[in-house]
Amino acid sequence: MAKDDLECSFCGRKKPETDLLIAGLDAHICDKCIEQAHGIVLEESKQGGAKELSSDLMLSKPKIIKAFLDEYIIGQEATKKVMSVAVYNHYKRLLQPKSEDDIEIQKSNIIMVGETGTGKTLMAKTISKMLNVPLAIVDATVLTEAGYVGEDVEGILTKLLQAADYDVEKAQRGIVFIDEIDKIARKSDNPSITRDVSGEGVQQALLKLLEGTTVNVPPKGGRKHPDQKFIEVDTENILFIAGGAFDGIERNISKRLNMQAVGFSASQSDDKIERTNLLKYIIPKDLKDYGLIPEIIGRLPALTYMDPLDEETLRAILTEPKNAIIKQYQKLFEIDDISFEITEDALNYIVGKAVEYKLGARGLRSLCEAILTDAMFEMPEGEETELLVTREYAEDKLNKSTISKLKAVS
Ligand code: ADP
Repeated sequence: MAKDDLECSFCGRKKPETDLLIAGLDAHICDKCIEQAHGIVLEESKQGGAKELSSDLMLSKPKIIKAFLDEYIIGQEATKKVMSVAVYNHYKRLLQPKSEDDIEIQKSNIIMVGETGTGKTLMAKTISKMLNVPLAIVDATVLTEAGYVGEDVEGILTKLLQAADYDVEKAQRGIVFIDEIDKIARKSDNPSITRDVSGEGVQQALLKLLEGTTVNVPPKGGRKHPDQKFIEVDTENILFIAGGAFDGIERNISKRLNMQAVGFSASQSDDKIERTNLLKYIIPKDLKDYGLIPEIIGRLPALTYMDPLDEETLRAILTEPKNAIIKQYQKLFEIDDISFEITEDALNYIVGKAVEYKLGARGLRSLCEAILTDAMFEMPEGEETELLVTREYAEDKLNKSTISKLKAVS
């Protein structure tokens, strides 16, 4: 057969009518048909992805999300509720087909205000575990405007890509937790005096990501793309969760509440306000007064607060969550065929010390380590197969450890 007589086995075009004709075993395909077939493949895989996403997420109604959070996190009811609704709405928006009416559901990024160690990171981690989406945890304190020493805001997306093992689709529906967002608050009310490299500039850069934009992200050591310079990431469907302690913000809240009381019967409104946890009354304006720019606040519409951890909560954190600290030790000892028990008295003692040293929930683990290190060192090779930790045992071990040298913080 003459060369020009060859034709595409799919559409029948003759070779001169095509730009390219590729030969197979006993068939040919032209460039147009390749393009069309490629389109079909893309469409199919997209639909498959959406199906997978919906089957994962549609089950997660807010109450189910909250119940999952309850398994891992003690207390923090207000945040759990806000978080469940925000996450549900976020993924509902994601699954929404392009709407015919012009109602565009906006993102429900979240901001949590509360002391360090109250479970903000844990909240973000638990949500990502439940949804099985990648999570990047970044510290806002290291972020600077592009061109300055520190990490560019785009670096956040590099982390997310890494967490998604460089699967861009996966990263694009992941979660970013920005810790210590209060540290990039504007330092002064007059931003024009000096350039505020780590404050407002970073907020502006962050704003773009929160709003939804396409960013060229340097993969940095990506195994799968060693030669690729940049990966394009669309932040439109990424859920951003921010957290911060906002030290001293209670003063703003209190001032505002007192001002509001003027004009009403002051004593009456005082009765209703719970003075021990003013964060409960936080509103977006307080964040603005603290130094976050209004645009950022607008892009973090779900505002919620964390309760400080009291003794009762700390006690529950030791034993109740699905992967509670004590359960973890039990498992560690069990691997060496050692049964590990701890008395109620000993648990209360540990909680008391965590409060005394102002160590919060993070301290519980250090205290347990200090108490149990000797046993974990000696017992795997010893004869004993039972360990009972009493208050006396805990006290004795703790007194010998360096942690007891901590002065009680006043
Ligand atoms: P934050 O991000 O607010 O500083 P984290 O989430 O890092 O606090 O909490 C530190 C550790 O304390 C967690 O790993 C967890 O073990 C424990 N923790 C804190 N709050 C809670 C809580 N409400 N329920 C269960 N564990 C908690």
